[in-house]
Amino acid sequence: MRKKQFKTESKKLLDMMINSIYTHKEIFLRELISNASDAIDKLYFRSLTDETVTLGRSDYSIFININKEEKTLKISDNGCGMTADELENNLGTIAKSGSFDFKRDGNNTEDVDIIGQFGVGFYSAFMVADKIEVISRPFGAEAAYRWVSEGADGYTIDECKKESFGTEITLHIKDDTDDEKYSEFLEEYRIRGLVRKYSDYIRYPIKMPVSRREKVEGEEDKYETVTTVETLNSMVPIWKRSESEVSDEEYKSFYAEKFYDFEGPAKVITQKSEGTATYTALLFIPKRPPFNYYTKEYEKGLELYSSGVMIMEKCQELLPDHFGFVRGIVDSSDLSLNISREILQHDRQLKVMAKAIEKKIKNELEKMMRTDREAYEKFFDAFGIQLKYGMYADYGMNKDNLKDLILFHSSGDGHKYLSLKEYVEGMKSEQKAIYYAAGESIEKIEMLPQVSTVKAKGYEVLYLTDDVDEFALKLLDKYDEKEFKNVTAEALDLLTDEEKAAEKTKNESSEELLGFMKEVIGKVSAVRWTGSLTEHAVCLSSEGDLSIEMAKTLKRMPGAETGIPNASVVLEINMNHPIAERLTELYENDKEKLTKYAKVLFGEACLIGGITLDDPKEFTSLVSELMI
Ligand code: ADP
Repeated sequence: MRKKQFKTESKKLLDMMINSIYTHKEIFLRELISNASDAIDKLYFRSLTDETVTLGRSDYSIFININKEEKTLKISDNGCGMTADELENNLGTIAKSGSFDFKRDGNNTEDVDIIGQFGVGFYSAFMVADKIEVISRPFGAEAAYRWVSEGADGYTIDECKKESFGTEITLHIKDDTDDEKYSEFLEEYRIRGLVRKYSDYIRYPIKMPVSRREKVEGEEDKYETVTTVETLNSMVPIWKRSESEVSDEEYKSFYAEKFYDFEGPAKVITQKSEGTATYTALLFIPKRPPFNYYTKEYEKGLELYSSGVMIMEKCQELLPDHFGFVRGIVDSSDLSLNISREILQHDRQLKVMAKAIEKKIKNELEKMMRTDREAYEKFFDAFGIQLKYGMYADYGMNKDNLKDLILFHSSGDGHKYLSLKEYVEGMKSEQKAIYYAAGESIEKIEMLPQVSTVKAKGYEVLYLTDDVDEFALKLLDKYDEKEFKNVTAEALDLLTDEEKAAEKTKNESSEELLGFMKEVIGKVSAVRWTGSLTEHAVCLSSEGDLSIEMAKTLKRMPGAETGIPNASVVLEINMNHPIAERLTELYENDKEKLTKYAKVLFGEACLIGGITLDDPKEFTSLVSELMI
């Protein structure tokens, strides 16, 4: 019989399959089962209008048979079948699937990626088989044809017999090599596992005769092989069932098995969408970040299905970074099984889905904050920092989207969490700004002299304990028209006009003293009297855009040794504290002692502001010296 040649492009693809180094060769089964399911779909749809097709929905099935002796794996269906011409055209070329860019050559890693994410249809079977036979008989025809190929050198087609319509594909599984154990694909447990993994939601039953050794009753030591036919797939995906039908327990165990998180999800989100994009999404918010969540190893993404068939395990395009912790599944009938990764990235449909999914997650989180505060706060403890980074990332592109999802501890009872909205709602009528203080911990922030000042006014203060916090708020600029004010930044503006005037006069009258102190301290941009402090003698505040905490953060970043400016720091001295008089007196009588006082006061201000002293030795000796 004359051997026919594959078309050039098909031959290249075939070569690639045969020599594939791809490690997940197992996807071939998914591809063949999907083809079988499509073929049944075709016949089923025909039956809706064509009276000659008398099969009911439940008459369709896909069979898998393993023959260990002959080393064959057979996949058969009772779908539409193929004519000789169709065998020739469909299996002799792959040109119609636009999925493959032949500008690339040979076995490079990108090819491997394509195989992994999308499979490449029927030809992927050549990754595991050295000979493939396809026997097919179209529905309504008498004749059947056999297509046989042993790889890239061509194929034959001849007429043959087949009892009933449909297609039967026999794979002659390759011999094991040192690197590859192809014989695994002749094991029942392996095939069952693969069907569960990739094809669990195929709409038609996938059946396989399964053999078991059973003891013969009444006879000692006698066993027989019993074969029963098992349906391997569960057919209806959990996300296709309506939410009211599925119990919490079912969601929980599905989530646990699928994402290996046995704690169960903090929240389940379902979404069904029709219109610009048709898809179903089943999403989960984990209770805790996976161990590698805050590292580069973590890969975000949702599992992507095309009508019940898994095509991608982690579709990153479906999730923005700030919601990267969400796990779940998206199933769409708008995507083709063999769409390539490159095409998918630019797919308009996928973008529409991603937008809608992002919105849904945001709405659900907002709802959770309103209706189940305790759960939301737990969620926030786990993933809040990600949301705050999200506000800051990409030049604040998503800040408005996220600003109502973030919480900060506050100076209120028990340092309870407040959203920005809640803070603003609780503001005093005359209060102009949203006050915050940044520091390493709630306890450290609580010690800041300026925090006492603002609290004494009856205003709440937000406590920013993560490095990213202040950067995020700076980008936000305002919330509900209210400015953010760092309490340790200059010009807190809490004094009455009268108090302000007194402060101004005092500063003007002691310019020389303050100038002297600035000079001897050497590390501050100014020394000033303040009327704002209540109990403390001194505090540090910053001038300009860069706050003290922000400068600290920037300096901690890798590679930041050079080029990061110091914040401009001002030493503020409480003009109502007894120390004020003492300093004035020393300026008149004992400048040497004043120098020491100035240095000690600056050290004190650093300590309470959470700033490490440059020269702790000098500071401690000065303190002891002044005691004598
Ligand atoms: P794709 O499924 O992307 O079209 P394949 O290479 O997997 O690419 O299959 C090529 C074509 O062969 C299919 O489009 C279909 O027309 C035909 N085909 C494959 N398997 C079967 C089958 N079991 N029954 C009927 N037709 C099939």
